[in-house]
Amino acid sequence: MKCHKCNIELLERTDVSGKDLLEYKYWHCPRCRDEFLDMGQLHEVAEKERALRRAEKAKFSKWGNSVALRIPKALAKAFKIAPGKTALLMKEKNAIKLVVE
Ligand SMILES: [Zn+2]
Repeated sequence: MKCHKCNIELLERTDVSGKDLLEYKYWHCPRCRDEFLDMGQLHEVAEKERALRRAEKAKFSKWGNSVALRIPKALAKAFKIAPGKTALLMKEKNAIKLVVE
């Protein structure tokens, strides 16, 4: 993709906003320093924003020498999470991904 003013190739960059919760990509012109999002990038940001608005809050508590996270009932039911079941925790760039096994 080229800059409409300078006619040189734009660079795709990634930034994070909203308390490090929302990562987004945008185009940057190295000459005039214009920045903008194309429709694909805009839709991606909108999708992430909608997911953030649907997010539920969970509180950490002390459990022996560990920290426990209480999963809200509706979420536990939706993912068939029950005591004794296991999950994989994966460190991602700005988050911890939890996959119920
Ligand atoms: Zn430019």
